[in-house]
Amino acid sequence: MLTHKGRFDPTRFEDLTVTVDFHCHSACRFCIVQEGMNLFKGVSEDKLRAAVADNARSRRYRRICFTGGEVTLERKLFDYVAIARASGSFEHVRLQTNGRMLADMALARRLLNAGVDEYFVSLHGHDAATQDNISQRPGSFDEAVRGIANLAELGVCLMTNTVICTLNVEHLSRVVDTVQPFRPVRMEFWNYLPMEDYADERDLVAPMSKVAPEVRRALGKIRELGIEGRVKYVPRCLLGDFAEAHDDSQPDVVIAEKFYDAYPQFACLYEAKCEHSDTCLGLHHPYVTKFGWEEGRLQPTPRTRPFVEPEDGLWVGSDRPGEGMADALDHPAWRALVEGVAPRNEARLSAVRLTRRTCSFLFEHGDSSVEVVLSARDDGAPALTRTPSFNIHYRSVAGPAREKLASIVRDAVKTIGERDPGGMVLDRRKGLVGDEAARRRPSGRAD
Ligand code: SF4
Repeated sequence: MLTHKGRFDPTRFEDLTVTVDFHCHSACRFCIVQEGMNLFKGVSEDKLRAAVADNARSRRYRRICFTGGEVTLERKLFDYVAIARASGSFEHVRLQTNGRMLADMALARRLLNAGVDEYFVSLHGHDAATQDNISQRPGSFDEAVRGIANLAELGVCLMTNTVICTLNVEHLSRVVDTVQPFRPVRMEFWNYLPMEDYADERDLVAPMSKVAPEVRRALGKIRELGIEGRVKYVPRCLLGDFAEAHDDSQPDVVIAEKFYDAYPQFACLYEAKCEHSDTCLGLHHPYVTKFGWEEGRLQPTPRTRPFVEPEDGLWVGSDRPGEGMADALDHPAWRALVEGVAPRNEARLSAVRLTRRTCSFLFEHGDSSVEVVLSARDDGAPALTRTPSFNIHYRSVAGPAREKLASIVRDAVKTIGERDPGGMVLDRRKGLVGDEAARRRPSGRAD
């Protein structure tokens, strides 16, 4: 059976990220797209138009996020934003940026007027010495802070991101001090992921003995300030009272499929024992190689459900900055496919789980439960039945009420078949773009 545990998969179903191009005027020491800058091209306008047209039909994504490289350096950015906004199919348009160009208020204003309403700004240090050392560009801290101040003045949705590494791990709560006057709705902290330096020759991977207490301190400050916190790639069980900030998911990305081949794998020794292993990736392999499994530090939460080898990647609900995590049913178009099935069968629909490759509906009847699973229609793959968009099967049958569960499955299959309009997209690919998005590597020959 194909299992996705341990693989980094972008999974936040409702967000679509588009890499406009890979140029940047900073050179962050941990940059995960550094290798990509040489190898990959950005997404072409044709590809973008196709993705936007697809969304206008399927309403699969609520948000489009433009990223790079440094996206504000790209002249075609305004064209891309205009294409997305003209479709009317995205509720939000987000930029992921180092913020430096936004020190120019005129540019910040133009972007807002063009329809960019959310800004995810990287700030990796609390002061110029730390940030500029990481970005390897003197002045980058001052520019980014001016950019953040401009965004605050414009009253947009402002979020910040800090990548945790050995160069800033001791200053995370000071980053909060630096940013908080500008009232971001959310601050995120992403633990560094080596994309090529798996042996950590640059010595950027910090030990959990330092990372965990510093992250908790920063989250404590954020909570007092009423700012939302999010943390990636730090084990959930090390976040203590702040476990709700844990979020190892990522959005769908229009980027070369191969980009994800370089992502490190993750594992946790306690996967089978821990209640949270469905949504917590654990530790990445380069970390384990450097610091070990942390078996004495991790604290698995004993399972209340039997361990089932996960078939799908992680899943989460909508991303709603400033409003906390969405609940497990918050996928209206998909939920509508089975609306009415649960009450007709004295059951409860307790979760709608969307990943790129599947949508599963968890039905519970007393102590019994079953998952009805949709995957992309594939006439060559086994399925209980097929509808215009999907193959359908069921799994995870638990509890004594087998007849009732069978009736729920029959009703769900019939109802989905009647309501599936065709064109609802589930997709097994990670990157959504093929080899054409890769640059040719230089041959190395002088001919
Ligand atoms: S024990 Fe493992 S799976 Fe559970 S929260 Fe900790 S790191 Fe995550």
